[in-house]
Amino acid sequence: MLITSLANCADQSVLEFDVCVVGAGAAGIYSAVRLANLGLNVGVVDAGPTETVAPDAVGYIAEFGDQFYNGAVDGRAFGFGGTTSRWGGVLIPHSNHDVRGNDEPCWKHISETVAREKRAVLVGLGAKNHDDFDRYPARLLPDVTGELSEVGIDMMASLFLPFRTKNLSTLARKCKANLSVYTDATASDWKIVDENVTSLRLRTLTRLEHEVRARWFILAAGTLESARSLLEIQAKYPGLLQSEILGRGLGDHLSTAVASVDVSDGKRCLDLFAPRFERGWMRSFRFLDRNQNHQTRAFAHFVFDNRNAGFALAKKVLTSLQARRVPKLRIAEIVTGLAGVSGLAYSRYVRNRLHIPQSTDMKLQLDVEQPFDPSNRIVLSNATDGYGRRRLIINWKIGDHAATQIDRIADEFVRRWNRSKLPKLTRASVSLSGQKPHDAFHPVGACRLGPSEEYPVGFDLSVNTVRNLSVLCTGVLPTAGSANPTFSMLCLGEVLCRRIGTLIGN
Ligand SMILES: Cc1cc2nc3c(=O)[nH]c(=O)nc-3n(C[C@H](O)[C@H](O)[C@H](O)COP(=O)(O)OP(=O)(O)OC[C@H]3O[C@@H](n4cnc5c(N)ncnc54)[C@H](O)[C@@H]3O)c2cc1C
Repeated sequence: MLITSLANCADQSVLEFDVCVVGAGAAGIYSAVRLANLGLNVGVVDAGPTETVAPDAVGYIAEFGDQFYNGAVDGRAFGFGGTTSRWGGVLIPHSNHDVRGNDEPCWKHISETVAREKRAVLVGLGAKNHDDFDRYPARLLPDVTGELSEVGIDMMASLFLPFRTKNLSTLARKCKANLSVYTDATASDWKIVDENVTSLRLRTLTRLEHEVRARWFILAAGTLESARSLLEIQAKYPGLLQSEILGRGLGDHLSTAVASVDVSDGKRCLDLFAPRFERGWMRSFRFLDRNQNHQTRAFAHFVFDNRNAGFALAKKVLTSLQARRVPKLRIAEIVTGLAGVSGLAYSRYVRNRLHIPQSTDMKLQLDVEQPFDPSNRIVLSNATDGYGRRRLIINWKIGDHAATQIDRIADEFVRRWNRSKLPKLTRASVSLSGQKPHDAFHPVGACRLGPSEEYPVGFDLSVNTVRNLSVLCTGVLPTAGSANPTFSMLCLGEVLCRRIGTLIGN
């Protein structure tokens, strides 16, 4: 892999690739590495620098409608690795729990694709023996899964990428195939002739310009920026991409604590549900209500308010390393933290558990998808940014009925749970004060995939009516569903890469 910053590269040569991938986040890196390993000459261009920064540091400033959408600011990082420089690295598939009455054909397609491709993606991420998302809980806790199943609650296990590989730039750095990464390069001015993208321009904050030509383009710029590029194409070529729903339906998970564990049951609950390690990988548990009467998809999980100083120190050091920054630590923090690190190490390497002291407060967190709302919408402003592009306006809000909806799902879930013999849950009140209650940062919906030209993106991720342009971002998902979105997006990407490999490979 070669990495080049275009920030000060005055040589205005034309870059030519088999495939140009726009965006070096999870989607861009995963697909670029896959395609390069298939023997294609792949170039990845990213607006940010080699070490990631906040969007405004590279001139990406959005305007907001009635409510502020924090996902556009704290929920994104720009540069090599994209948002994986800060994410939790939790991998979990969408599944047949997502196939409900609304959006049924889309979710059927997504859940079947994920079921088929999950193993291939795990191999790509170096986790080939961990595709037991639904079987792991039954293997480890057969009595608990049996109890919950009787009351209509299914259990799944998520998989955490280890800290050393969470930032997916490591995947690209290890790639020995024909892969070039260009940073400080904003893709703009898409040129389309006869329904084919022929080139685009790369602009730098230093006002330099380069041209890229490729046989295929993948737009992997994250949900908000991918939608923005498609809206730019729609505005420039009115005959193309006539989908009315492009940019509409921006949604996320609304994530909030809905119940606590009775103090008397705390130890038992911790013993059962604290995250565990298996063959070096951390696993934690998810709970899904099997009740298909709820059209709204959701998942529940326990969160632990871990105040252990060793845990805090380890987390700070590891998240800095994930972002490729030197951790900034105070002496007192190091001294108190080191004392707690031994407990952490004992628990991790002897008990294969994440160390959580017994006094730790445990809450049941519910992540509920926002239903499709066409007025939650991304549009282009008339004001332009430092690259000469029209800025983004993000019209996003939490619906009026969100709190009632969350309460309804939480009531039902807790009622079912408490019918089992497991530690009892006590309902806590939910208050949504106009902001996202807890930041899940799972933007979806603005570039929805679907079975017809009504949708901007087809089931095969091609942009409708543009032959050699595909989109890979969580925005292709209709709603946030019952899982964190990145793993399912990569499963869709796996099929895309094989298709491109077949169409233009040698
Ligand atoms: C704190 C946090 C924790 C999270 N935890 C999880 C988790 O545990 N599990 C999970 O599934 N999801 C999680 N997420 C969400 C997850 O990080 C995203 O779904 C995922 O990283 C999106 O990847 P992406 O490649 O689509 O977009 P991004 O990572 O945003 O990458 C897009 C890239 O495109 C570049 N770009 C944008 N516009 C242009 C342009 N015009 N030209 C060139 N480049 C451009 C940007 O610089 C950026 O690097 C978390 C998010 C956050 C913020």
